[in-house]
Amino acid sequence: AVQLDELRKEFDDVVAVDGVNLEIEAGEFLTLLGPSGCGKSTTLRMISGLETPTDGTVSISGEDVTNLPANARNTSMVFQEWALFPHMTVEENISFGLEMDGVPEGEREERVTEALEMVELPGYHERPATELSGGQKQRVAMARAIVREPDVLLLDEPLASLDRKLRQHMQVELKEIQEQLGITFIYVTHDQEEALTMSDRIAVMNDGRIEQVGPTDSLYKSPETQFVATFIGETN
Ligand code: ATP
Ligand code: MG
Repeated sequence: AVQLDELRKEFDDVVAVDGVNLEIEAGEFLTLLGPSGCGKSTTLRMISGLETPTDGTVSISGEDVTNLPANARNTSMVFQEWALFPHMTVEENISFGLEMDGVPEGEREERVTEALEMVELPGYHERPATELSGGQKQRVAMARAIVREPDVLLLDEPLASLDRKLRQHMQVELKEIQEQLGITFIYVTHDQEEALTMSDRIAVMNDGRIEQVGPTDSLYKSPETQFVATFIGETN
């Protein structure tokens, strides 16, 4: 499980995250949903270790990791902009992190091949990253994240730059990958439709705080605040 206690982040005079408390079960698909600027990415970055909290704690599997560097946590992150290395092939992109982890070459090759099958790009090893479509880049970014076998995968609007049709297709695929691997997904989006389609539970954020957290249907049927009612009800 991932546990956030009174998590807080200030930048100069901006309070980006204002006391977040949340427990995410192992194997759960939890979505942080909320409008632009409400603190979703900052929360995710504190879980991954890319950002240090001003106050509060992050625990993963019962261990306080608040002061551990990103590479000492069992998490991987997928970004909106896939951030592939453009001058590398697909295989080099996926293998890079494993090499850093000191995984021997034979095992690296095996794990890259498995990951490419998982994201339905078998045989794409030698393709240059620059020659991939948006959807293919997103799959490679997923493969790069899952190949390290994290306990927790953190995804920050991973589908936001895809067109509507591909986005819907990838929503189904990501969900399947999550169920197949049985790992925890913490997923960030400002798209309520996406959140409703994919999540086990949704935490609705507003202005640095969680307004309400619950199973998808309960949020939809019994919103506790006007903000949640309006935000969940909206379609864009
Ligand atoms: P979006 O949906 O637009 O990505 P978000 O919910 O992810 O928004 P955050 O990126 O977490 O929002 O930002 C929360 C607040 O913190 C915003 O007011 C933002 O301007 C501020 N903020 C985020 N990162 C920094 C930073 N490095 N320096 C200063 N302010 C920051
Ligand atoms: Mg963001």
